[in-house]
Amino acid sequence: MTENLNLQRGLLRHISQFTEVELLDKIKVQSIATEDREGGGWPLVHLSDGRTLRARLLVGADGFNSPVRSYARIQSYGWAYDRHAIVATMNHPPRGPFQGSNTVAYQRFLPTGPIAFLPLSETSSSLVWSTKPQLASALKTVDPQVLADMINAAFRLPDVSLCYLQDRILDAEQSGSPLKPSQFRDELAFRERSDTIDVRSAYSSLAPEQSSAGIPSEDADAVPPIVTSIQAGTIASFPLRFSHAESYIGEGQGVRTVLVGDAAHTVHPLAGQGLNGGLADVEALVRCIEHALLRGGDVACDKLHKLYSSTSQPVVWARSVGLEVLNELDTIKAALMMSAGSERHRRRPGEVGWELAAKSIENFATGLDNARALGGSLANVVGDGVRSLWERGGSGRA
Ligand SMILES: Cc1cc2nc3c(=O)[nH]c(=O)nc-3n(C[C@H](O)[C@H](O)[C@H](O)COP(=O)(O)OP(=O)(O)OC[C@H]3O[C@@H](n4cnc5c(N)ncnc54)[C@H](O)[C@@H]3O)c2cc1C
Repeated sequence: MTENLNLQRGLLRHISQFTEVELLDKIKVQSIATEDREGGGWPLVHLSDGRTLRARLLVGADGFNSPVRSYARIQSYGWAYDRHAIVATMNHPPRGPFQGSNTVAYQRFLPTGPIAFLPLSETSSSLVWSTKPQLASALKTVDPQVLADMINAAFRLPDVSLCYLQDRILDAEQSGSPLKPSQFRDELAFRERSDTIDVRSAYSSLAPEQSSAGIPSEDADAVPPIVTSIQAGTIASFPLRFSHAESYIGEGQGVRTVLVGDAAHTVHPLAGQGLNGGLADVEALVRCIEHALLRGGDVACDKLHKLYSSTSQPVVWARSVGLEVLNELDTIKAALMMSAGSERHRRRPGEVGWELAAKSIENFATGLDNARALGGSLANVVGDGVRSLWERGGSGRA
């Protein structure tokens, strides 16, 4: 477990080493537009301080409601779980000398959703409790001591008793007379007695002798430490949903955009993988950009990916000629990119990709002699390749 604040502090410290990185704090992205330029402009990011940034590559790391995703018109699919996650930081006594450190995470899968107890320090742990929205809302507004007792119960009592206690909380909220901590304690004591829970067992959350001193009960490791209070200002809740963007890379209007993290995908927090998925996205993106730049390409690496993953003959040929050469030859580049595998480009029946590419460069081929006239081995290399393509296209061989 690493607290988000610590992660953020570490990252801020790291980026402060790079003088070329400017951090814009307390500034919002107000809108994003496309630069009006022939051949397609770059994204223009309008900031709340009046500045406009022109982005060679705009990375949408802007969360579930990603403005970058909306700008790039990338669809996102998924569903709501009809569950909210209530989070809080819980205080509890340290583990006893016979129990070791507070390093064990606990998760109980209740019929309404999992509740997780995630250690932060010897005396504090983090709560993530996925439950029905109505109950999450009630738990957020009850007296924090009632919430602490309810958390203890949620790790210890049978489901039927938990349902009873939850109903008590919901009823009290609906009636407008919130439960007092002492009232809830009475209810809890009643349920523990009905469930024949021994007060010396770790499954009792009310035993007065619940302390870290002495030899722990046999079942002490089966449940997390007793929560004694909730840290002020730490209770919050979040709606949970699964979503996945149709594409992580923008095309058309969204060209030069890429999505990472929750902007690209959100998952249920029960496995604690959301942030980790985002970090993996960033690692993959960095690799992709490095790959492109080290080969003299552009940071908008979608087309490079298509070019390198294609096995079509003209594209393989083009790869060996070299991207730098092709970059200068717009007509060929366009034709090859088209052949490089865009699904959106529908071929007519019987028409193979390289034929299309060859047709697209027909006009260019006639101009090659002129290029040769300029001399230079470069033009010859390209010329031979194009001619070979053109001849194959003419004979109809695939
Ligand atoms: C209850 C809960 C528990 C979780 N527990 C875990 C866990 O244990 N482990 C784990 O790996 N993941 C966990 N996750 C998931 C994790 O929190 C997310 O996956 C992660 O925060 C996503 O990071 P992100 O940077 O992509 O998006 P966000 O954290 O949503 O950050 C997006 C940022 O963009 C900013 N932004 C948006 N619009 C604008 C704008 N117009 N201008 C300027 N800034 C803007 C927002 O202010 C925000 O700071 C949990 C999620 C929930 C809901």
